[in-house]
Order: sequence, then C-alpha cells, then structure tokens
Amino acid sequence: MAFFCCDNCGKCCTSLGIYIRIERQLTEQDYYCKNDITGELFPVHVQPEFAREIDEEYVSGIESTTKSRNGCVFHRRNPESPSFICAIYPSRPQICRDFRCYHMIIRNSGGDVAGKVVGKTDIQTSDAILARIWNAEVKLLPYNAIDGSGRTASPCSDPSWLQQVSAILASHCYRCDPVT
Ligand code: SF4
Ligand code: SF4
Repeated sequence: MAFFCCDNCGKCCTSLGIYIRIERQLTEQDYYCKNDITGELFPVHVQPEFAREIDEEYVSGIESTTKSRNGCVFHRRNPESPSFICAIYPSRPQICRDFRCYHMIIRNSGGDVAGKVVGKTDIQTSDAILARIWNAEVKLLPYNAIDGSGRTASPCSDPSWLQQVSAILASHCYRCDPVT
C-alpha cells in the first residue's frame, strides 16, 4: 500500500470546490457551510491571514482578487508563494479530506514511480510502454466496486480486479501499489 500524497496543486479545489457554499456567517472568522453534493453541513474557521478579505467579500458580495478565479470560495492565493492555498485547511470538510486524485501508483523494475491511476481506470504516465500495456490489457477489465453509499468506488477496492492487474503488470516487470 502507498500513502496518498497531496502536492497542493489545487486542481480539485477548482472542480470539487464549486460545490462548497457558505450558508451563513457566524463571526468574522467562522462560517456555516454546505457541500452541495453530499448535503453535508459543516462549520469552518478561516485562518487569520484570510479572515478579513473573506469577510469583506462575503458582506459585499464582491470577489477579492486573491480568490482563485474558479472554484471554492476558500481557495486563495498563497501570500508566500505563487500558488494557492486552502484558507480553512484545519477545518476543511470531509469531502476534501477524503478526496484522492489518484488511487494507485505503478512502479517500474527500478522502484521508480512510472504512472498513477486516476479517475476510475485512466492512467497518467510518460512511460509509453506502460501506457500501451495499461490501455491494451488493463483498462477494460471489468470490476465490481461499490462504496457504502451505493456509488461506484475505486476499482482498487475489488480484490479480484487488483489481483488481475497485479499479475498483468508483474508479467511486464511493473508493480502496483494501491493508495490508502
Ligand atoms: S488532492 Fe490532488 S488535485 Fe487536489 S490539491 Fe491535492 S494533488 Fe492537487
Ligand atoms: S475547502 Fe479547502 S481543500 Fe476543500 S475545496 Fe475548498 S480550498 Fe480546496
């Protein structure tokens, strides 16, 4: 098993984040929010350095220039680097904590990361041989993976799929590591 490692690229905050909405303001730093996908209601606490601008934006209804152009209202320009940052990171909702933008790492015979499996069964790789093997032998394998709420889950949760994929990759000297 590999551990998921988020590099804070912020891509999910511009897609997933559009469903996070402020329901009401409690204090200058505290809000009650809703996830429009799951219906989850949750309180958030804004980090002090972003409190004023988010408060002013909320009260005026005018978006600050520090907000990312699209996506989550809490996705803000990082004052210390040319990247973006979550203004409520310690109190971010469960959906953000659970989100994995890849669910399997594939390593080559040297142990280096050769690719990542994203979505359900798509692969991100610059290894042309691995891409060909994946698309020809793995991508269309059926799987049976349903999560607790009845939605299709990652194929990695299907032991039979995982076993077949491991065997195929091993026959080509690759190894797969599902992400926890
Ligand atoms: S979960 Fe993935 S997409 Fe989202 S910020 Fe982290 S690395 Fe980027
Ligand atoms: S709450 Fe934070 S982690 Fe979640 S989408 Fe918004 S900015 Fe991203």
